[in-house]
Amino acid sequence: MKNYTSYNETIKAIKSKETSCYNIVKNYQKTILEKNSEINAFVDVFSEESLQTAKKVDKKITEGKAGKLAGMVIGIKDNICIKNQNVSASSKILAGFKSLYNATVIERLLEEDAIIIGNLNCDEFAMGSGNEHSVNGVVRNPHNTTKVPGGSSGGSAAAVAANMCLAALGSDTGGSIRQPAAFCGLVGLKPTYSRVSRYGLIAYASSFDQIGTITNNIEDSALILEVISGKDERDSTSSSKKVDEYSNFLKKETKKIAVLKDCLERDGIDIEVKQKVEKTITELEKKGHTIEYVSFPYLDFLVPTYYVLTTAEASSNLARFDGVHYGYRTEKPKDLEETYVKSRTEGFGDEVKRRIMLGTFVLSAGYKDAYYKKAQQVRRLVQNMTKELLKDFDFILTPTTPHTAFDIGIKQKDPTVMYLEDIFTVQANITGNPAISLPLYKHSNGLPFGLQLLSKKFTERDLLSFSSQIINDL
Ligand code: GLN
Repeated sequence: MKNYTSYNETIKAIKSKETSCYNIVKNYQKTILEKNSEINAFVDVFSEESLQTAKKVDKKITEGKAGKLAGMVIGIKDNICIKNQNVSASSKILAGFKSLYNATVIERLLEEDAIIIGNLNCDEFAMGSGNEHSVNGVVRNPHNTTKVPGGSSGGSAAAVAANMCLAALGSDTGGSIRQPAAFCGLVGLKPTYSRVSRYGLIAYASSFDQIGTITNNIEDSALILEVISGKDERDSTSSSKKVDEYSNFLKKETKKIAVLKDCLERDGIDIEVKQKVEKTITELEKKGHTIEYVSFPYLDFLVPTYYVLTTAEASSNLARFDGVHYGYRTEKPKDLEETYVKSRTEGFGDEVKRRIMLGTFVLSAGYKDAYYKKAQQVRRLVQNMTKELLKDFDFILTPTTPHTAFDIGIKQKDPTVMYLEDIFTVQANITGNPAISLPLYKHSNGLPFGLQLLSKKFTERDLLSFSSQIINDL
């Protein structure tokens, strides 16, 4: 059977009776069977449920009653709750835990007849840049299986890249959608903070976390975003701003783009990444867009600020995993204290423990002002500067990552080397702006990489429209 790589193509084929949702799901399940033992993107495949849903959706399509996402087969990162399914954030501490309810994004997908095919491997509690910190094992990059797929939504990106589902949801706290999308040659969209409800997303750092999409193309991202966005009474931080028609692209316009020159001049950036991004910049100029190279003096402070604040929030968010409420509990503890200590010691992986300790430290009496408060102040400076820049420009442009996907295991020894992976992506989470990674490039080493665009808050429609323009024109 033919592989469909866009929703448009899929729904056309279903409507013309060339295929059906049922056959499409069967076909994805076949691909999963062939490829997942090597790629390791899926934690659970909902074989029966997805076929049942497919049958129902086929019926609805025939009756002309189908929703906006009928026939969209989607995988979900293993930190988003799906009723009656296991959800573990790829951690031992949640082993065997089943969700009692659907996350709001899941409810919204189902209302529009999307078909959920399974849940997807990720870094434990979404902490990582290579999908190597997972109780379910490493995920492999479908473009080259000796490389990481990126993280933390590595399973989401690998599943779409290996054609095991049409699209996936991920979460992005510091780049976890955009970086794996870049490493796997896909579109990764992190919406504005508060655009999409976080109800039912296992929290890592609540003031940074956002759910978003990983897809083969811009149109599919726009369509899914339209469905999952909007006010939710169950997430008080969700915005009540009207949801735009993201999939109805705005007409072409010339834009003003700021290129952060510090990013392109940074030590350690791959020369080919730099050259190819510069070539795009020249082409954009030729198309009539205004480009200016601007300096962003806070670049070196972004990663430290991100890691102080997110670990602080994580240390508090992860306090609930105590061996009593959910999932894993140590065997035969002698008292309550030992239940807590041993369950957490045995249940959390090394990277998560490192972050809980770091977060507890930066919040502790005597150090709070030097670290946590200072980082909050820097966050404000970064927010102000980004806002000022976006008064003059429509978009801020950088590469998504300094290089292509790295070898599995190579960055394990020194966590700070791994943390620097996030250098270009964390700005959007520190400020809350939307950002997208576009799969524009192939390196001579055979691996894909991406271009990142960041725009004003709640301008996803502009961001997606311009992205589609870039992909079609360049
Ligand atoms: N790589 C980053 C980290 O390890 C980003 C994670 C994320 O966005 N969830 O924190």
